[in-house]
Amino acid sequence: MSIASKITEINANLPGTTRLVAVSKFHPAPAIQEAYDAGQRIFGESKVQELVEKQDLLPKDIEWHFIGHLQTNKVKYIIPFISFIHSADTVKLLEVINKQAEKQRRIINCLLEIHIAREDTKYGFTIEEARSLFEKNTLGKFENVCIRGFMGMASLTDDMRKIRTEFRTLSAFFNEIKEKYAPWFDTLSMGMTDDYKIAIEEGSTLIRIGSYIFGNRGND
Ligand SMILES: *Cc1c(COP(=O)(O)O)cnc(C)c1O
Repeated sequence: MSIASKITEINANLPGTTRLVAVSKFHPAPAIQEAYDAGQRIFGESKVQELVEKQDLLPKDIEWHFIGHLQTNKVKYIIPFISFIHSADTVKLLEVINKQAEKQRRIINCLLEIHIAREDTKYGFTIEEARSLFEKNTLGKFENVCIRGFMGMASLTDDMRKIRTEFRTLSAFFNEIKEKYAPWFDTLSMGMTDDYKIAIEEGSTLIRIGSYIFGNRGND
């Protein structure tokens, strides 16, 4: 199936509350253009330099989402155009995003990355750490950052029950923080190629799909 037909197929089956982030990392601008021509507007990238180069080549109404680990010294390069940063994983990073956003007179939408389980990534806040940030209102001083919710990745496993439990845990935590501290919360980013259907059932509002649309890294 072509990139265009995959985009059409996924979007046609999404519930109204969930949107697709087409994860285009490692894939060249023409592949992104093909998805764009099929109507896709939200794209996710995980490397700053790659993102900056592609952003320059592609239509300006693309909504770029940064989904990878973000180094503080590279924040300034994406602030002029980024729509969403899914991977805010330390208070220090949020402080830098806030400072750069203030300089460039923007307000940046961010998600706190929550470490729910996945063993092969060390990034993200634990649920306890994140809860404490809201109890103490640690992030309230960042006026140029808008925390819209959370991002999480489930374990790399075939055990669908385990994946569902992890998404359910993150979804419950999202609802808890939204009720107690952050009524504006509207974004829960969870679900990738292998687990997005479960993620949607558990309340995801943004799914991040790469290989299903664009093929594996280095393939078509
Ligand atoms: C690469 C990546 C994805 C997409 O993964 P696929 O399994 O290819 O769909 C989603 N989220 C993050 C954070 C990623 O790095």
